[in-house]
Order: sequence, then structure tokens, then C-alpha cells
Amino acid sequence: MENILPLAIDSVELNRPIIISGPCSAETEEQVLTTARGLARAGIKVFRAGIWKPRTKPGGFEGIGVPGLAWLNKVKEETGMKVSTEVANRGHVEAALEYGVDLLWIGARTSANPFAMQEIADVLKDAGKDIPVLVKNPVNPDLDLWIGALERLYNAGIRRLGVIHRGFSTYGPQIYRNHPQWRIPLELRRRFPSIPIICDPSHIGGKRELIASLSQQALDMGFDGLIIESHCDPDCAWSDRNQQITPEVLGVILDNLVFRDAPV
Ligand code: PEP
Ligand code: MN
Repeated sequence: MENILPLAIDSVELNRPIIISGPCSAETEEQVLTTARGLARAGIKVFRAGIWKPRTKPGGFEGIGVPGLAWLNKVKEETGMKVSTEVANRGHVEAALEYGVDLLWIGARTSANPFAMQEIADVLKDAGKDIPVLVKNPVNPDLDLWIGALERLYNAGIRRLGVIHRGFSTYGPQIYRNHPQWRIPLELRRRFPSIPIICDPSHIGGKRELIASLSQQALDMGFDGLIIESHCDPDCAWSDRNQQITPEVLGVILDNLVFRDAPV
């Protein structure tokens, strides 16, 4: 992976620190737009929302699906933010590209699955679009599997690649929802210094109280950005409610972080 290009949307490079925020899940049009308006006021430039949700057990909210992509379009029109979502199979990629999603990310359960990764790489190759893709670490602490997921995309011609560190599953009670095991993302960066690395303190910590300190730790280690879940009414969120914060709280957290290079 020698020719990685900087993350860019419509030829505009995403400046460091890259801050991405939005709800775990798109739930309703109003929730998406209210959250996005708050984030735009806080200066966020890239919005996230899960449209298809990989839930651990059946019976939970599994995502709003394609109708939510139209809400993301409204976010773009109204706020000027760029929008991103998670894709896990061919149908997701096709729908996201059709609706003009600006940036895709691959979830931790998908990056652990070589068949799914190859399918996504193939459909992106066929589409021939220069879309940036962020690959979350696999749920299990397997650096080669993470790198393999990146290589499948790279071999399909995707050059605007980045990674998201979201921690690793462990069994039993933990402070963290997903253990950070920082040496794994740091080793990936050592091997591939041109791949931007973004920290997801929301899924590492699993609790909103841990977001600020995990974010600062990541920045102190030279991470290139943060992806943080936010919701207009976090306690009522349909997924990951304990780790979501309001756009206003996000603004306060960002104001208090020490950025090594450029401030937000
Ligand atoms: C998410 O970003 O909401 C998500 C499902 O994350 P992960 O793949 O890291 O579990
Ligand atoms: Mn989530």
C-alpha cells in the first residue's frame, strides 16, 4: 500500500484533526436533522449516521435503511456538512453511492470478514468512484486481518483510505466496552505511516464519561482525528445510548482538548 492518498471529499482534503460526529443510528428525520444542526453550529464538517446497524442480537433496531439516505441528503443541503455511513455488503455500497454519501466506513464486524470485504472491494471497483473509505479494526485484536481488509480495498483501486481504532472485544466486566490495546493501532501506523488514523472513543469507552480522556490520549499519541457519536437526545437513542453526547457537550469537549497541530 505505497500510494495512499490523503482523505479528501470532492477533491478537498480533510484537514487534521479530522472530526466526524453524528448519531450511532439514523432514527427519524427530525433526530437526524436536529443533531446535524447542532453539530454544524459546533463547527463539525463531517456527519456520521448508521443506516444499517449490525446488532449483536436480533430484535433490536437494525437500522432505518434506504429512507435514511434521503435524510443524509437533507443534512448536506441544509448544513453543507459532508455525510458518511457504514456499509457492510454490495447493496449498502450501491445505495450509499446512489444517494451521494461522501465517505464510507466499514464496521468492526465486517472488517473481520474477508468475504464481505472482498465483496465491498469488488463493488467499489466496479463503481470506479474516488470515495474515501475508513476501515474500523476487526472486533478481535488481529492486526493482519485489519491490514488484509485495507489491502482488499487498495487492490480494488481505493487510494483514499483511513483507519478507525474502536477497540477490541474482550470477555467479562471491563472499564472499557472495547479494550483499546493502543499498541495495535500504533503498530499499524508504524507500518503504514501514510494511512490516517482516527480514534473512536465512543465505542472504545462505551460510556460518555470516558470520551474526553480517551480522545486526549489518542491525540497525544498523534492520531489524525476522532469519530464521536452524538445525538440530540442521547438518553432516548435507539442504539448505544450510554455513549452518545449532545452536540453542545461535544463542542465543550473539543474546546478543552489539546490538539498537537491545528486547532479545530
Ligand atoms: C458504529 O459505528 O455505530 C458501530 C456499529 O461501530 P463498530 O463497528 O465499531 O461496532
Ligand atoms: Mn454505535
